[in-house]
Amino acid sequence: MVTMKTFDPPLDVLSGRTVTTVRRIGKMPVIEVGDLALLVHLMSAGRLQLYDKLASPRDRSSRLLVRFVDDSELRLREFGTRQRAWAKLLPSGEVEADEMVATLGPEAWPAPPLTELAERIDQPRHLHPLLRDQRAIAGIGRSWVDEILWEARLSPFKKGSELEDEEVERLHTGLSVLGAAIETYEQVIGERVPDKLPMPLRVHRREGEPCPRCGTRIEAVFFSEHQTNYCPEEQTGGRVLKDRRLSRLLK
Ligand SMILES: [Zn+2]
Repeated sequence: MVTMKTFDPPLDVLSGRTVTTVRRIGKMPVIEVGDLALLVHLMSAGRLQLYDKLASPRDRSSRLLVRFVDDSELRLREFGTRQRAWAKLLPSGEVEADEMVATLGPEAWPAPPLTELAERIDQPRHLHPLLRDQRAIAGIGRSWVDEILWEARLSPFKKGSELEDEEVERLHTGLSVLGAAIETYEQVIGERVPDKLPMPLRVHRREGEPCPRCGTRIEAVFFSEHQTNYCPEEQTGGRVLKDRRLSRLLK
């Protein structure tokens, strides 16, 4: 199967074993099955969901199925045409050394110490791509980077190395939106993750709506396939960024 990036041990050695732990490293779920671990990368459109029943043979979104004795099924699903999500089955002891794990920066949540964050982002790169770079800091994706920057009142196009101490502190505090999101999910979602995840987003994909804090119209800029939303009043000194200008900025 193209989704599996490893073939030794083969997936069927999971038969008869018991899932011992489910945890997360950065954006990657890890399912521990005794001394083996299934490391999953959801990429941008993947989801790991548990179902009561087995998937229909017509289900085209499932990339990987793990069936349990009670007939429930764990599915790695991916929406859209691209098949990019992947999984690796590794001895548990080798997870930390896996190239995708070993290169990760510190976890974004719980937030690393302020000084460590300051060191990590002291790079001449725009905050939007920098914070999504898992090697700089792990666990932030396209939706949450907008939320974190909005919370911190920072422009997505300010460079990490240009931040004042006080701005780094705001960014550090802004990481708490991740903790708040996890808390919300724990309250509103039970064991089964629904197809339509109720993401508590306040600016991401909310262009045209009023900023929940100051009422200014939330704007959007696009770069490649990425959409960024922000409040011009509070994050870019009142400037509305143009896509053309943005693509030049990011080159
Ligand atoms: Zn605002």
